[in-house]
Amino acid sequence: MKVVKESFRVSTQAELDIKNITDQGQRVVAKSGIQEGMALFFVSGSTAAITNIEYESGLIHDISEALDRLFPKEAYYKHHERWHDGNGHSHIRASFIGPSFTVPVSEGKLDLGTWQQIILCDMDVKAREREVKVKVMGE
Ligand code: ZN
Repeated sequence: MKVVKESFRVSTQAELDIKNITDQGQRVVAKSGIQEGMALFFVSGSTAAITNIEYESGLIHDISEALDRLFPKEAYYKHHERWHDGNGHSHIRASFIGPSFTVPVSEGKLDLGTWQQIILCDMDVKAREREVKVKVMGE
């Protein structure tokens, strides 16, 4: 089995910026030369997450609203007493979605559905530059 590791950087805006990282991921897979296996995507940082969505403006709005309903920014977070950084909601949102996402690789490509894109969700309260780490494993 071959393992290829690579990373790419993504600049994000404050308060839930959702970036489509499918093309960057596909480029890493193509460059790896691996035909059959899997690709793992992982974001460093506890206020960002990776998952998938149909990347269209309606759903991007809807996921933002859903996160506001589930984990309101205005709620009390004990985290604020420790660091005073005002991003308790950001951490909780990121934990629930999770920092990694795995996709099968078939015939040298990410084997995603037609309406399925990989997204990086940055939930922090300030703009950031994120590093997405990718491991492509297979042969
Ligand atoms: Zn914090």
